[in-house]
Amino acid sequence: MSLKERYKRFKEWQLDPFDWSFDENERHHCENCGYDFAGKFCPHCSQKAGLKKISWKSVFQSTAEVWGMNNRSLLYSLWQLIWRPGYLISDYINGKRQVSFPPVKMLVVMGVISVLIDNLFGINEVKTVRGDSPLVNQFFAWIKTSPGWGWLIMTCFFIIPTWCLFRYAPRNTKHTLPQGFFITVFMAIQVLIVDDLADFFGDYFYILLPLCYFYAYSQLFGYGFWGNFWRVVITLGSGFLLAALALTIAELLTTIPKSYVEEYKAMADLIFCSMVPIIVGMYISKKTFNRREKKKEPQNIEISDNDKTENKTL
Ligand SMILES: [Zn+2]
Repeated sequence: MSLKERYKRFKEWQLDPFDWSFDENERHHCENCGYDFAGKFCPHCSQKAGLKKISWKSVFQSTAEVWGMNNRSLLYSLWQLIWRPGYLISDYINGKRQVSFPPVKMLVVMGVISVLIDNLFGINEVKTVRGDSPLVNQFFAWIKTSPGWGWLIMTCFFIIPTWCLFRYAPRNTKHTLPQGFFITVFMAIQVLIVDDLADFFGDYFYILLPLCYFYAYSQLFGYGFWGNFWRVVITLGSGFLLAALALTIAELLTTIPKSYVEEYKAMADLIFCSMVPIIVGMYISKKTFNRREKKKEPQNIEISDNDKTENKTL
């Protein structure tokens, strides 16, 4: 196979790795109960269609199954998250649930694995944020022991910026906030993995995190390179500022600050710096969206005109 063909195959796999097609009329004989039927499973005893006597192939298949190599397995879902993150998320939030291991469960499992790895290799993370409030410090201490939930909370601050900036995207237009939540769960899993990798391969975390978002969002929302680039930059920047705002509010509520005026000033700055780029970005996105829709309209009219003439001739 040539390199070009391989790439073409990879592209096809990226867009749709699952083949759900099957011949409705093909008859099967159930080896388990002897019933003749059409379909993927025996309606009498529910054994899978097409299962034959034990062969070398079944040895391989049943062993692979233990290690989670089937469609909905954890490993295959992680594999998809590496090579087709945006398409996987897009499939999932549009109702193709059988393509992935349940995402929240996946996040929790990966969180546990992450803690195990840290303990096994004796990695002491130095990412402590020292605040004045004991409650906030307690919160960060807790996050260290459950990084899955920690990253989920952090990436939740990206839900609103994503919702605003990618509302008018070419793909997954006007996604809802619940869909936004599942987008963030999938992203948190990736960030968690990148965070673990950064422990081993030097701290490239702050390069890898934006790359993750850039790659996944370009597949998920379908913007071109630069359109995707500036939106991801604003999403991440504003998200971090909103997180800082939440932290400031939490500290203000649990401690007595030296000066209230200064704290309020800082909060106003954070609100201003996070919200203005989002609103401006949303405005530009809406404009380009309207322009795109306008371009589409004349074509639609032509088609409907053709339909009319066709109806007349009929
Ligand atoms: Zn049967």
